[in-house]
Amino acid sequence: MKVAVLALQGAFIEHEQVLQRLGVETVEIRQLKDWQQPIDALILPGGESTVQMRLLKELGLYEPIREAILIGMPVLGTCAGMILLSEGRLGTMDIEVRRNAYGRQLGSFHTVDTVKGIGTDVPMTFIRAPYIERVLSDKVEVLSTVDGHIVAARQGNQLATAFHPELDDGTRLHELFLGMVVGRSDKE
Ligand code: GLN
Repeated sequence: MKVAVLALQGAFIEHEQVLQRLGVETVEIRQLKDWQQPIDALILPGGESTVQMRLLKELGLYEPIREAILIGMPVLGTCAGMILLSEGRLGTMDIEVRRNAYGRQLGSFHTVDTVKGIGTDVPMTFIRAPYIERVLSDKVEVLSTVDGHIVAARQGNQLATAFHPELDDGTRLHELFLGMVVGRSDKE
């Protein structure tokens, strides 16, 4: 299994480190040619979504990545990565997000809460985080809410979190994602 990590900007190294701890091969996507090899899954990391969007378009990665997700490539989007999946950006996930949703003062915080399919004690680090403001179709399954706001969701091959699972100890969120990747290859 080879998991690509979009490495244009933001917290991509931390995702690679988690995957390496799990014994999974990773490949950094920095330009179009990195994308032109067999890849089983993709991680869109946190960072600055407007910068990431601009770079995706400039580098010619926007369309191929969008296509791959639409035809079923498993993708994990965290924080800015979740924003990229949302309506108005890549638009592959039927969600509307509110950026920097917690305001300046509460921009960054840590909590522990439930994520469906993982457990009740999942550590969550939010950094100038978005949340999912609206779910646009019943294909979206809400996996977690914090203070009444959706912070994790899944739509088929797409998994999104408003928090940064790669910054906490523990690998359960990534394991959930890798389960989606393995589940997919089983079907083929
Ligand atoms: N505020 C950032 C954005 O809009 C997301 C922050 C993050 O990824 N930690 O894109």
